[in-house]
Amino acid sequence: MSAESTTPRTVHVALNERSYDIIIQPNIIAEAGRVLAATVHSRRCLVVTDRNVGPKYGPRLAKSLQMAGFDGSLAELPPGEAAKSLKVAEILYDRCLGAGLDRGSCLIALGGGVIGDLTGFVAATYYRGIVFVQVPTTLLAMVDAAIGGKTGVDLPTAKNAVGAFHQPRAVLIDPLTLATLPDRELKAGLAEVIKYGVLDDAELFAFIEQHSQQLLAKDTAALAHVIERCAAIKARIVSQDEREQGGGPRALLNLGHTFGHAIEAATGYQGYSHGEAVAIGMCMAVALSVELQWLAPADRDRVVALIAHVGLPTKLKPTDPDTNTLYAASLKDKKVAAGSLRFVVAEGIGKTKVVTDVPEAVVKKVWDSGRE
Ligand code: ADP
Ligand code: ZN
Repeated sequence: MSAESTTPRTVHVALNERSYDIIIQPNIIAEAGRVLAATVHSRRCLVVTDRNVGPKYGPRLAKSLQMAGFDGSLAELPPGEAAKSLKVAEILYDRCLGAGLDRGSCLIALGGGVIGDLTGFVAATYYRGIVFVQVPTTLLAMVDAAIGGKTGVDLPTAKNAVGAFHQPRAVLIDPLTLATLPDRELKAGLAEVIKYGVLDDAELFAFIEQHSQQLLAKDTAALAHVIERCAAIKARIVSQDEREQGGGPRALLNLGHTFGHAIEAATGYQGYSHGEAVAIGMCMAVALSVELQWLAPADRDRVVALIAHVGLPTKLKPTDPDTNTLYAASLKDKKVAAGSLRFVVAEGIGKTKVVTDVPEAVVKKVWDSGRE
């Protein structure tokens, strides 16, 4: 590994008294205790992880916490979205009580977006809010879910329906943990990485084009570079619009998500992962951008080509739900503003804006054309 890839990179999230650092550094898990001792006052903590991640990285994190004087225990949950529930949250509250966590104690989320969202929610509500730290281990969580303070759980019929804004005290990103991440999960994370390029950063987009093979081969330096760029974009946007006020800049992060969420919902969260649905959704978002004459067809083709190149889907399958079903699903999304669909459209690579009042016929035309 080159010296450059082992140097810590820090991205600051500026939110007044809720400000924090995102530290990207290979092997930071082994240093987490030392790093956290400087930002977390209490030494009592509970690490929350799942049965895939816990055995791989839990002992190293626990040892580092112990060496820094932390008195910690570990809660290992079953992997999968089902853990993002009020039932499992209740189990965690019990674990917090059992571990003697008080108002000054700290929760540490070690895992993907599921563990991060759930642990953040428990931290937001236990004793009306305690400190928590994110140690994301999926690419998707590193560039998106772990940053920005959105926490929550699902209800049986509604994803992310119960939640709170609660910023972490720190985000520690160890790109080496991606070595064990299944390929399909890595690619799902790349969908969000490409999203950041399209929405804000033409240089990042070109970097992904030029380094797609290194990224897919989990080259640490290439991954650390894109993680830092994405984290910096998200940090800036969250600083400007912490709570996603209607039409604020945070809405831009939803590029590809109006279509993507509808695809996930209409397929019952079975056929596509979030990243895969967003990949197809982004292809539709750039198709819509061309349809509305904001984007040149050549830029649309560049986005679709890159998504295909990293092995992500670009179109729906013939067997997927029909256009009317998908359109109806998009109207149910919780981000629909007063009955009007909001889309993020691209005006070029790295330049996006939010549009409302797109005619139904145009949206349906895009759904129709986005199928194999
Ligand atoms: P996301 O971050 O995409 O929301 P999840 O939290 O659902 O994803 O994690 C996706 C899957 O990957 C889960 O089964 C989880 O246990 C597993 N996982 C997370 N991080 C790693 C890792 N670094 N190595 C291996 N498996 C991992
Ligand atoms: Zn997303």
